[in-house]
Amino acid sequence: MVRTRPLKVALLGCGVVGSQVARLMTTHAGDLAARIGAPVELAGIAVRRPGKVRDEVPPGLVTTDAAGLVARGDIDVVLELIGGIEPARTLINSAFEHGASVVTANKALLAQDGPALYAAAEKHAADLYFEASVAGAIPLLRPLRESLAGDKVNRVLGIVNGTTNFILDRMESTGASYGEALAEASALGYAEADPTADVEGFDAAAKAAILAGIAFHTRVGLDDVHREGITEITAADVASARQMGCTVKLLAICERAEDGRSVTARVHPAMIPDRHPLAGVREAYNAVFVEAEAAGRLMFYGPGAGGVPTASAVLGDLVAACRNKLGGGVGPGESAYARLPVSPMGEVVTRYHISLDVADKPGVLAQCAMVFADHGVSIDTVRQTGKDGEAKLVVVTHRASDAALGATVESLRRLDTVHGVASTMRVEGE
Ligand code: NAP
Repeated sequence: MVRTRPLKVALLGCGVVGSQVARLMTTHAGDLAARIGAPVELAGIAVRRPGKVRDEVPPGLVTTDAAGLVARGDIDVVLELIGGIEPARTLINSAFEHGASVVTANKALLAQDGPALYAAAEKHAADLYFEASVAGAIPLLRPLRESLAGDKVNRVLGIVNGTTNFILDRMESTGASYGEALAEASALGYAEADPTADVEGFDAAAKAAILAGIAFHTRVGLDDVHREGITEITAADVASARQMGCTVKLLAICERAEDGRSVTARVHPAMIPDRHPLAGVREAYNAVFVEAEAAGRLMFYGPGAGGVPTASAVLGDLVAACRNKLGGGVGPGESAYARLPVSPMGEVVTRYHISLDVADKPGVLAQCAMVFADHGVSIDTVRQTGKDGEAKLVVVTHRASDAALGATVESLRRLDTVHGVASTMRVEGE
């Protein structure tokens, strides 16, 4: 039965995502009411520029007074779609204080201040939902928090940034340089005017912190996530990966250590074998691979951004928050009981692809192999090509710690016969 008194919703931000949320709330009003058990009514829409033409929203609802809107006292759910740290954080806290639940897509704020936001929600017996903050439309956080709540997640490995996946995909499919592929991404609207957050891995690192926290029931902050971007990736790296039957992807990797006593979270470019399902994720799509003890390997795939897809995730959270309001309960809060330590990057164990420019003379290969052996890094394959006194040595290692690999590379650089370390890349997904 649908009750007649509507639940009131405040929309903060009416940009790429917010405008689509407003549109879908209107066009799907009947279905939303039936699924929730009460109509949902947009009570106000806070923006920065009130004069901007917005076809999707009734002009009478638009205000620049976001603080006043969330403090009205009759708002049931606040949808925070402004982004950034402030004023989003103050507005979310005010929403809780005034009795509202909150749905947000704000990965930056959650990665920085998640525990404080969870605590505020719990204090006021309100919901905090944020499905849209990681991988856009892809249902990922709810499966991790709820569907896998009875399992033990050991690994989350994903492509969670569409811009960088588009750039790397273009480099691979056309042979373009990083700069050329970035220019194409900008022209097509996949990269922002300032692409730093995407190409330097900040966006993916925020998502990795959120994913690791949920997957391992442990607080993982932004500072705990090792981060490297894709700006140093060259066409030669991509071609070298090709020769190995691999693809270069920017990956977010959250792992439980083999002894189960600690976790790691990292974002960096890596080679993955073409047969791995993540290798086939093209253009700006996202995909996340979850490995759980009982469930086995699960893959979540879909559009990781865009106004309409992201609005789908926001509306799903809105329905959940509204149902809880009507039922008088709250959804799952923070689960950080495991309190596992987050290990530094040096303790991560994986395989590596190292490309060296060396002198083309007898004994160089043996000399380099000795450096690897001295640091306990075992070599899987070596490929050598040489011409005019210069040679290229491509080494792929067995599993070794990041610290051991780093020390190996430092020692190699000191050899007279090594003229340069052209690239070092981790090999994942095997
Ligand atoms: P956006 O297009 O830049 O829109 C931001 C909105 O917030 C605009 O309507 C803006 O008003 C309003 N705003 C900015 N400052 C404000 C203030 N001080 N008070 C009131 N309103 C203010 O951003 P978006 O792309 O929709 O992203 C929104 C959130 O969703 C972010 O947290 C983002 O990380 C997340 N997200 C976005 C995507 C995506 O594909 N875009 C995907 C997943 C998650 P004006 O319209 O007047 O400028």
